[in-house]
Amino acid sequence: MSKPIRVLLASSEVSPLASTGGLAEVAGSLPQALTEVGLPTMVVMPAYPEALAKAKISGPKLLLAVSMGVELVEFEVLIGQLTSEVPVYLIRCDKFFDRPGLYGEGRTGYLDNPERFTFFSRAVIELLEHLPQKPQVILANDWQTGLIMPYLLEAGPQAPKGIFIIHNQGYLGLAPPSLVSEIGLPDRYYGVEGLEYYGQLSFLKAGIVFSQAVVTVSPSYAKEIQTPEGGNGLDGVLRLYAGKLHGIVNGVDYVQWNPMTDPYIAANYSADDLAGKKICKLALRRELNLSGPDRPLFGMVSRLTAQKGLTLVVESASELFKLGLDLVILGSGEPWFEEKLTAMAEDYPDNMRLVLGYNSQMSHRIIAGSDFVLVPSLYEPCGLIQLYGLRYGTIPVVRAIGGLNDTVRDYAGQNPAGLWDNGFKFSQFQPGALVRAVRRACELYAAPGEWAKMSNMNLKEDFSWTASAQSYAKLIQKVASA
Ligand code: ADP
Repeated sequence: MSKPIRVLLASSEVSPLASTGGLAEVAGSLPQALTEVGLPTMVVMPAYPEALAKAKISGPKLLLAVSMGVELVEFEVLIGQLTSEVPVYLIRCDKFFDRPGLYGEGRTGYLDNPERFTFFSRAVIELLEHLPQKPQVILANDWQTGLIMPYLLEAGPQAPKGIFIIHNQGYLGLAPPSLVSEIGLPDRYYGVEGLEYYGQLSFLKAGIVFSQAVVTVSPSYAKEIQTPEGGNGLDGVLRLYAGKLHGIVNGVDYVQWNPMTDPYIAANYSADDLAGKKICKLALRRELNLSGPDRPLFGMVSRLTAQKGLTLVVESASELFKLGLDLVILGSGEPWFEEKLTAMAEDYPDNMRLVLGYNSQMSHRIIAGSDFVLVPSLYEPCGLIQLYGLRYGTIPVVRAIGGLNDTVRDYAGQNPAGLWDNGFKFSQFQPGALVRAVRRACELYAAPGEWAKMSNMNLKEDFSWTASAQSYAKLIQKVASA
């Protein structure tokens, strides 16, 4: 039997060790899924204080160093476990990572983010020399790890091959040209065909240009980022490299997200017995102090940024609540949205609740206890919330974009043969379009037995990692043997 291909996944956040969103969820669950399909996978991430506290560190640490410009930066590598089968290497350099935030605090990002993630990328390359088992392929994720791709190329043919995964084209990872000496690549990497981006440097572009393959997290998003509307200035580059661009929908961690065993929800349930879902709704209404008559309950769990379509929700408030629904939003993010949503919740005290903050357990209770999950994103590379909704029999109402479009099939729409309608979609990024989709959802709720029928079918749909991990495995094997 041939030796298995070893994989190293590098990410700036990995759930449950440190998380701000979907990137962490994928980085936290794809390694185990790959391991289960025969590709043993290791993980490397920065040693933020919260990650150090949670990672079950064991064994001796490594003491290493990389040069950045004129400076020699020393760091430690600690070894922990992400799962019993997946080791995680934590790169500890307190001057870069011992901070309250992952990328910034409040409204402002850390000014030295380009240096921090240049260092991290260099440290990953240095670590390769010291791993007991060398990987053949590195999966780098988003701009924070984009530089790993040219570093691998520069390391020569013996180095692992690089696959770059784009979770969000919205973040270019820009750095000033003055960072060139810290980055330390030969001059030929910095031109317009390399890192250059309108007079600056883009680490995201480095990942796209210098990788063996690029993956993004849904087939629709793979097409959208090749257009001027979705490419964020890199659509031309992505069209140039379309031949190595793949769209693979994210899977859901079916252990973390399982209505039959979920410890955070009021009652467990399954497709065979939805009684527990009713209990979850009652408990959520009680927790939120929603005391009116039973109405369709819409849930949102979201970063509060423009990407998530919250302006549509704010602008359609009066029309939405005329439909006789309740709305709960759990989110954290930009103060502007916090203020707007707080004002909206004050205007509709009987029907709306806003919970500010990042709260994983509460997100489970909202997904389980709502009748519908609302995802009106401006753009959405894959989206996980609608997949969690499907897993919990909570019907998604989404904008037909990116991964939302690939995973939700509109009620009474033109669906692929043999598949049922699993939710509601709208196309135009306009309040009226959102309201019309929500109205159709409320009509389904009002029709006796119809909501339960769809919810029940959705509980049976499979969005686990099984299929997606196979797609990744095929690509990894192809890249490793090229
Ligand atoms: P993105 O990565 O763009 O934020 P995704 O839908 O892909 O969007 O993933 C978001 C993930 O972050 C989901 O797992 C969601 O549950 C989680 N999440 C976002 N905001 C919060 C919050 N305030 N509290 C708890 N979980 C949250």
